[in-house]
Amino acid sequence: MRADQFSGIKALLERVFANSPFYRRKFQEAGLTADSIKSPEDFLKIPYSDKEELRLAYPLGLLSVHQDEIVRIHSSSGTTGMPVIIPYTRRDVEDWAEMFARCYEIAGITRSDVIQITPGYGLWTAGIGFQAGAEKLGAMAVPMGPGNTEKQLQMMMDLKSTVLCATSSYALLIAEEVEKRGIKDRIHLKKGIIGSERWGDLMGKRIRDGLDIELFDIYGLTEIYGPGIAIDCEHHKGMHYFDDFLYFEIIDSETGEVLPDGEFGELVVTTLRKEGAPLVRYRTHDLTRIIPEKCPCGRSYPMIDRIIGRTDDMVKVKGVNIYPGQVDSILKDIPGVSSEYQIVIDHQDGKDTLTLRVEKEPGCCRPDLESVIMDCFKKKVGIRINVEPVEFGLLPRSEKKSKRVLDYRVK
Ligand code: ZN
Repeated sequence: MRADQFSGIKALLERVFANSPFYRRKFQEAGLTADSIKSPEDFLKIPYSDKEELRLAYPLGLLSVHQDEIVRIHSSSGTTGMPVIIPYTRRDVEDWAEMFARCYEIAGITRSDVIQITPGYGLWTAGIGFQAGAEKLGAMAVPMGPGNTEKQLQMMMDLKSTVLCATSSYALLIAEEVEKRGIKDRIHLKKGIIGSERWGDLMGKRIRDGLDIELFDIYGLTEIYGPGIAIDCEHHKGMHYFDDFLYFEIIDSETGEVLPDGEFGELVVTTLRKEGAPLVRYRTHDLTRIIPEKCPCGRSYPMIDRIIGRTDDMVKVKGVNIYPGQVDSILKDIPGVSSEYQIVIDHQDGKDTLTLRVEKEPGCCRPDLESVIMDCFKKKVGIRINVEPVEFGLLPRSEKKSKRVLDYRVK
């Protein structure tokens, strides 16, 4: 931790002690006062915050300023419980746009670009973040929102969009449509900013080849501004994040112990400047690592690795932890396999079973595909699985997020 980061954290703690009922109670319960954090070592005594607690603060329990200071709220999806509402001050909105504009710049995007934005607008932070960053940069934003692929393609051709912002599944759907319609020569895209969903190398390759674009992985979550807090640069060695706004730690998600740089674990974020709803040591449940090496691009922003999965979509089968990211990395080396797969878990005759449904590439007729995948899995993950190759195009494509893991076991 740098000195300026520690002083940012000190100021943050004073702010939340003074103004955030949520954190005042949390820290009092832990026996902490703002003064008890005197050194970066003391920072480690601060308990983590988790999404469950944020949910209990619904609707506006996370407010850390007077409500008059709030100019906007966003909310994370409530699919698994109460939504979390995050209030933003004007400064928060500007800081987010500043980080997002930096993301575009790191991806080599300039004010001459035409940025087609397909993530959703509304309570969800996605679309509006891409939009504010584009405006801050001075590029021309085309605020399409999701779906309506017909119109997306028309606008893309007519306005000569050069940048596509999308989830990986939607970018893939667009790439396939462009191919199907034979309109590749009428598309002017150069870059894709792909966020909100972990995507494998194979999927990336199909989007890159299908649209003839360079892809950049953007990261973020609603609780911490939204997308736009980290992105990869032209070297694609990892995602640069903005350590003047955010302090990142990687922890062992089981024990809570902070891990050294270079080791994979759960990302924990502290917001150094956020006003509306600052967060201290917030567990993202995203799995990554801090990359200790310097990036060849020479930028001073440190890097995290691509997100390899989430602590909660980690599934335990036959006593082994499995992440979708592992499946990606196994499949990418097997010729004849497309980027789409599904992990189906069930419990039969007293045993867990894992069936991997894998799409074949168009025209692939390898008779040994099933056994090759089974052997690779056994070698790299250590368990025996069933493999079900299916024809290309049979697994669901999505305009939002693909569901990779279907767990039918009774909880
Ligand atoms: Zn770089």
